[in-house]
Amino acid sequence: MVILGIDTSCDDTGVGLVEDGVVRANVVASQTALHAPFGGVMPEQASREHLAVIGSVVDRALAEAGLGLEAVGAVAATYGPGLVGALLVGLSYAKALAWARGVPFIPVHHLEGHIASALGAPDSARGRAEPPFLCLIASGGHTSLFEVRAWGEIRELGRTRDDAAGEAFDKAARLLGLGYPGGRALSQLAETGDPEAFPFPLPLKGQAGFDFSFSGLKTAVARLVAASPDLNKADLAASFERVVVESLVSTALRAADATGHTTLVVAGGVAANRRLRERLQDTPLRVHVPPLSLATDNGAMIALAAHARLKSGFRPTSASLEADAVPYVPLSETSWREAAVPA
Ligand code: ATP
Ligand code: FE
Repeated sequence: MVILGIDTSCDDTGVGLVEDGVVRANVVASQTALHAPFGGVMPEQASREHLAVIGSVVDRALAEAGLGLEAVGAVAATYGPGLVGALLVGLSYAKALAWARGVPFIPVHHLEGHIASALGAPDSARGRAEPPFLCLIASGGHTSLFEVRAWGEIRELGRTRDDAAGEAFDKAARLLGLGYPGGRALSQLAETGDPEAFPFPLPLKGQAGFDFSFSGLKTAVARLVAASPDLNKADLAASFERVVVESLVSTALRAADATGHTTLVVAGGVAANRRLRERLQDTPLRVHVPPLSLATDNGAMIALAAHARLKSGFRPTSASLEADAVPYVPLSETSWREAAVPA
């Protein structure tokens, strides 16, 4: 079956098509240039832009897959968490499309989509990442570690107590004058720096749980820049990156030890970070990192999550057309297993 997936949770209009679990198209219209002058996402502008482009992004995805609307057997969309006005555009479009075509509608939690991104990129050596596995999501808005026992059985082990990892990268980049969003620029600058030059401590060192914290590190960078504006920025970038990566990797390794899982899926924009990828290769874990097109916000991951649900017994009802956009909802509250009607 062909599933059309839509994500408009933040500043990207993403539409993907997945057929029997295989990604046939994945088109993302990025709004980065629109928001860059403001140094962050302007929510109202984001909603308007989603509204302006969503129809054409759907058309482009269908054209990329060489399919017509009549081929679509189900429609899925992100209902939350995210910017509520932005979410409403994709959700309303998807519900109307499903209703008009008489096909099922499947509301998907944004983080369930990120977790499912691993399913769209089978690794030639390691095959497809199937549960059970651990999943680290590190993006601009989220940093969490999940235990995925099966689809519909997902437990959050820990999350950031303050900034997300990508947000910390962006804030540190701004302090170093690298523009917005500066995560990538900061990691490029870090390549030429000494990661040991600044001995930042590991955040939450010694904690029993699996939480993260990055705002103290960001403040340390801010203080250093304010105290000596002509310090070596490459060294500072490299030292900052070392600590963020070490925090992500050491927490994932402890979680693997505690739970016995040996596979780790990494999703979200920070998965693009080279140091993180290299550091993960040094661990005993089987690591799956989807390509960037699936790791950052996109529609294909939402269709992949819907596919995974259907495969594990979820049956959408017409009640799903009443799903509302929700700005904040933990993934653990979305368990659909109890509500699932046996096939
Ligand atoms: P969310 O998905 O949580 O709503 P988002 O849409 O901002 O947030 P993504 O698109 O998944 O998140 O990722 C963007 C983030 O990834 C930005 O914060 C960006 O700085 C960061 N990022 C991208 N490339 C790199 C890199 N090479 N190193 C570190 N961070 C990076
Ligand atoms: Fe996201």
